Amino acid sequence: MIEVIDAEAARRALHHGALTCPSCRTGRLRPWGRARHRAITGAHGVRRQLRPDRGRCSDCRATHVLLPADILVGRAYAVDVIGPALAAFARGTGRRTIAAELGVPASTVADWTRRLTANADAITLDAVRRVVALDQDLLSTTVHARPAAAALDALGRLATAITARWPAAGRDPWRLLALATGGRLLRPSYPG
Ligand SMILES: [Zn+2]
Repeated sequence: MIEVIDAEAARRALHHGALTCPSCRTGRLRPWGRARHRAITGAHGVRRQLRPDRGRCSDCRATHVLLPADILVGRAYAVDVIGPALAAFARGTGRRTIAAELGVPASTVADWTRRLTANADAITLDAVRRVVALDQDLLSTTVHARPAAAALDALGRLATAITARWPAAGRDPWRLLALATGGRLLRPSYPG
């Protein structure tokens, strides 16, 4: 799975053999059809259909889906819905309140927040390590009682460090959050 900022640019790069395989890091990805259809719900309940491009490595034969930067792997809502939900949860807002505000079923919000809590320590560790590599001055000195709050704090700092180093990554914090985690933020194991 590869998170891409600009799906059109990524498609051109794929067709020109310009994408390196994230599995073996040496092979080049070649076009390998499209991934399955998926329906994604964004902010304000806006739905869209998506069929991401897929590439296959010329060396190790691994296949990778080119997922747009506003999508998390295995989730039917865009990151501009999931991100604010996670941020509210990290601030201590109840799941039912979050669900009502975002127009998402409470069970779905509960699923996201459970997964975030389960992955929180791994996310924090990974994000802090990467912030150290980019800009140590951005490290947090705040101690968070909730693991989820620590994880989102660390991810926010990582997003800031990424924007500073690579302005082309954009400034949308939730897209950066998806990119920084390879869309794997809420996977059963992180980073996986
Ligand atoms: Zn490969």
